[in-house]
Amino acid sequence: MQCKCCRNEVNYEQGVCPVCGFLLLGAGTVPEEIIAQHKKEMLEKITISVKTYQYDIEDSTVKNIQEHWTVAGKASELEFDKILWLNANFEEIVSEETFFVTILLTKDGSKREQKFTFCPGKTFQRSAVGLLLKEGFQLCVTAGSKQEYLCSEQIPLLEA
Ligand SMILES: [Zn+2]
Repeated sequence: MQCKCCRNEVNYEQGVCPVCGFLLLGAGTVPEEIIAQHKKEMLEKITISVKTYQYDIEDSTVKNIQEHWTVAGKASELEFDKILWLNANFEEIVSEETFFVTILLTKDGSKREQKFTFCPGKTFQRSAVGLLLKEGFQLCVTAGSKQEYLCSEQIPLLEA
């Protein structure tokens, strides 16, 4: 069965969900607002940022590359199975080469950096980065365009 809050696959005999701590017994009668509130409380502690780059082009050469963390928002803003597209200054890069997207999860002062590798293997436009919430409070990063995108592997949002 699924936890009502984080949608993790659980055994109700466990009592509470091992991922999000939601009470499993009697969860069937818990109002939607309580479930939504618990999801919010668990996820609003986590802020997600995406690494973006600024550079100058002089004589067709990329120069002065500067890295920035662009805050995407709190994890509580994510809805299950719905991509939150970010304006991450990816520009209209068309390429078939492998590329990377790095995100930063900040929670209670601790930071976790995660690099995702994307291998299009064909001509592929990447102009946007998105975040996607999956079962068990897992996070996927999407990259591409809203019409055609690649989805990363999943990482647990709540893990320290
Ligand atoms: Zn749960």
